[in-house]
Amino acid sequence: MTQARRIGVFGGAFDPPHLAHRALLEAALHELKLDVLHVVPTGDAWHKPRVLTEAAHRLAMVQLAFADVPGICVDSREINRTGPSYTIDTLREIAGQAPGAELFLIMGADQAAALTSWRDWQAILQLAIISVATRAHSLDTNDSIEAERLFPERFFHLGLPALHVSATQIRSNIASGQPVQTLVSEPVARYIADHHLYQSH
Ligand code: ATP
Repeated sequence: MTQARRIGVFGGAFDPPHLAHRALLEAALHELKLDVLHVVPTGDAWHKPRVLTEAAHRLAMVQLAFADVPGICVDSREINRTGPSYTIDTLREIAGQAPGAELFLIMGADQAAALTSWRDWQAILQLAIISVATRAHSLDTNDSIEAERLFPERFFHLGLPALHVSATQIRSNIASGQPVQTLVSEPVARYIADHHLYQSH
């Protein structure tokens, strides 16, 4: 009997993609023994309070940041879709393209704590195992995943240590002229400089 394909889905604004994202997706590929991991930059993020950088820049940076990792598929479907990006739509499409596959939705604890506010969150849990990475500076959210309290069997915690990196910090460093070399890969740093991104708050 052939084993079901194991497919990971890792969505985000990636504004910009950083080294904690990369550590997280490498840990997920390895720990969950994924055949493929779709990295899905969001189009229109309904749940983020700020306007995101143009999708074409975020997609280009995601390619530079992760495309060399074996098993990664940079997936532009949410950027190509019109209207708000809903994870349930993405999961349904991927599930429809790979009948019988096991799906794993990868996210940091901050996103997992907000999961019950996502569109059709119970359907998300039926389609995918929520695979959570501890988020530094959010000890409260690391402890309080409401959806996990209700459906503990649909959650998995990755063994990755908490990493003190966020896109917010990177944008703020750039705007105030601070270095970002330890936070993003060299090609991403060069892309940001070449396109003058994040130079003001
Ligand atoms: P921002 O600071 O702009 O909110 P971010 O650093 O959280 O951005 P996103 O692109 O929003 O980056 O994150 C995509 C996914 O990666 C989310 O599930 C988020 O929880 C997760 N993530 C981002 N940074 C980390 C980190 N340092 N540790 C664990 N998970 C992370």
